[in-house]
Amino acid sequence: MSRIASVLIPMPLPEAFDYAEPEGMGLEPGDQVAVPLGPRLMRGVVTGLRDATGGNRPLKPVAERLDDPRLPPGVLAFVEWAARYAVDAPGQPLAIALRGARAPKPRPQRLVRATGARPARATPARERVLTAAAAGAMAPADLARAAGVSASVVKGLVDEGVLGVEMVVPDTGFAPPDPARPGAALNPSQNAAAEALKGMVREGGYSVALLDGVTGSGKTEVYLEAAAEALAADPAAQVLILLPEIALTQAVIARVAARFGADPGEWHSDVAPPGRRRVWEGVASGDCRIVVGARSALFLPFRKLALIVVDEEHDSSFKQEDGFVYHARDLAVARGKIEDALVVLASATPSLETLRNAETGRYRWLRLAGRHGAAELPQIELVDLRETPPEAGRWLSRPLIQAMAETLGRGEQVLLFLNRRGYAPLVLCKACGERMTAPDTDSWLVEHRYTGRLVCHLTGFSMPRPAACPHCGAKDSLVSIGPGVERVEEEARALFPDARIAVFSSDTVPDAREARRLVAAMAAGEIDILVATQAAAKGHNFPNLTLVGVVDADLGLRGGDLRAAERTYQLLAQATGRAGRHERPGRALLQTYAPDHAVMQALKAQDRDAFVAAEMAERELAGLPPFGRLAAVIVSGPDAASLDAFVREMAEAAPNTPGVEVYGPADAPLGLVRGRRRKRFLVRAERTVDLSAYMAAWRARVRPRGAIRVTIDIDPYSFL
Ligand code: ADP
Repeated sequence: MSRIASVLIPMPLPEAFDYAEPEGMGLEPGDQVAVPLGPRLMRGVVTGLRDATGGNRPLKPVAERLDDPRLPPGVLAFVEWAARYAVDAPGQPLAIALRGARAPKPRPQRLVRATGARPARATPARERVLTAAAAGAMAPADLARAAGVSASVVKGLVDEGVLGVEMVVPDTGFAPPDPARPGAALNPSQNAAAEALKGMVREGGYSVALLDGVTGSGKTEVYLEAAAEALAADPAAQVLILLPEIALTQAVIARVAARFGADPGEWHSDVAPPGRRRVWEGVASGDCRIVVGARSALFLPFRKLALIVVDEEHDSSFKQEDGFVYHARDLAVARGKIEDALVVLASATPSLETLRNAETGRYRWLRLAGRHGAAELPQIELVDLRETPPEAGRWLSRPLIQAMAETLGRGEQVLLFLNRRGYAPLVLCKACGERMTAPDTDSWLVEHRYTGRLVCHLTGFSMPRPAACPHCGAKDSLVSIGPGVERVEEEARALFPDARIAVFSSDTVPDAREARRLVAAMAAGEIDILVATQAAAKGHNFPNLTLVGVVDADLGLRGGDLRAAERTYQLLAQATGRAGRHERPGRALLQTYAPDHAVMQALKAQDRDAFVAAEMAERELAGLPPFGRLAAVIVSGPDAASLDAFVREMAEAAPNTPGVEVYGPADAPLGLVRGRRRKRFLVRAERTVDLSAYMAAWRARVRPRGAIRVTIDIDPYSFL
């Protein structure tokens, strides 16, 4: 009998489509196929097969089974679970899962190698090339760089036959990690946690552990022991380590390589497509046994995932806000369950959600005591800006400047932390009061001095800083309001002209290579003052960094969403935790206008538990996460009147369910983005309610017309 294949296509379509399986194709679930969709052939994945019964309408046949790896059943189950949870089309998470499968394969590279012939005319430059070429075959550009000559010198030697050209297919394999290599000698507290995790690995099956320890307590060493146990226990086992920032992946990759004697697969947006293809195929074949990556690595086609580590699990970068909306920590737990794997959530400041699960015993709670070795936590002091304000137009107060001078005087390093890119967050006209915004978006333009442009951080729109106010035409009337990292750098330079100063933000550090370079320069003591956004404030160990100055500790508390206090606490605990590793004591100064705020007091006292207890009590009273569930609906459209009509209709269509409250519609705080007006609903539900099912039912009752778009965000982190 002929069969029907359900094929899921990586696009936002509501469901899988049916195709006829051609005679003898022998498809299996997970196979990648080409199927006709409208006039085009599309890549899709077979999710199921069933016998065709008579009377079916004729189906188009599957065009071809692609010669690409089959997706393992765990990925298919995960894609379906994720789509249901996020109330989105399954093609959306599938598109993420296929990202590496669709990337081009690594291409043969043109390399040159010395042939042994001597050049007709020897010059010092040519001799340098021959010396450098003794290292073996390399790309012509690399050889020229190594020899310190121009490309034409290398080309001349190729033309003469002194260098031969060969086409080499890059090695796409992965060296096997060696779990038997010795790890660090663990201290007793690390050892207890490592033994507990190893026991969980040996026991097998799904479980979740919270690895909870202050910055510098050595959590990485502990979870690497769990990885070693998993890799040793089963020669097919695979390990995934998720990190929130590309900048952090580099340090962890180096530690994994040192521990296991083999480079792990690296997965994030900055890896070139052929590199992604290599990791994707290595993971699918089982060759690649350790992956270190960003959130989307969770969708890789692991065959036998034994351990997932979510490092810095509290970090809000794990929440993906565009396209398919998901939180990688939550999905990691879901994937762990599907794969029968151990999930380790590591943090110095765990999220309240995770702490609650640990308190109630759903997660095993492993606490590390203090910092490793002689390192002590930094002493934290509050600088009350009401008493010692910076001079007008300046951002650093006297106590902070003095601490910087002392630190630099001892030959130690300073980190100035300000979680704001660019030079100034707002530019306004002092003649007419106009605030500069993007033409079609309700968001201030941020001034960037290095590039001389005003940039919208939301949409990427940018323009040169105008000489006159575009609104009233007044000349030289635009003033920059408030500080960004570039402005703090300017101030630090004026105060300490001899200091070596660098800025670390996503603008100055656009890719992983640059991040590696700057982190290495900082670690090697080539920088005296690092002015940094959160891109550099997490995870790194800088042995000679002994002072952290938080320029605006109150920044995250403004605008106050549900997690403002929690996030501020986490971010500042991370940032201040950079100070004082190894034997040198550290100090952190927090500039604040609200020294009495619970967050500032908790940071000063280094009393996380008291802060968490107070925050938990407030959340419980309000029925907010982790004690209740939230979902947001963002409705947008280009036309205000039809958007209004639609959201009214939507409000009426909301199902009436006990334990669920629907608030809104309300104008979104960001009312206009890229020419689209935005409205929001907020839904609060008791924990016992299946909120995804509720939202799916609601959505099924309305049909967005024209250009109106409805986005559902389960457990929102942004309320803009
Ligand atoms: P965390 O992830 O908890 O912030 P790390 O694992 O990065 O901490 O450890 C902090 C520093 O202490 C690192 O430089 C690490 O190499 C070092 N360290 C941690 N544990 C040990 C150990 N048992 N032996 C030697 N060095 C250690």
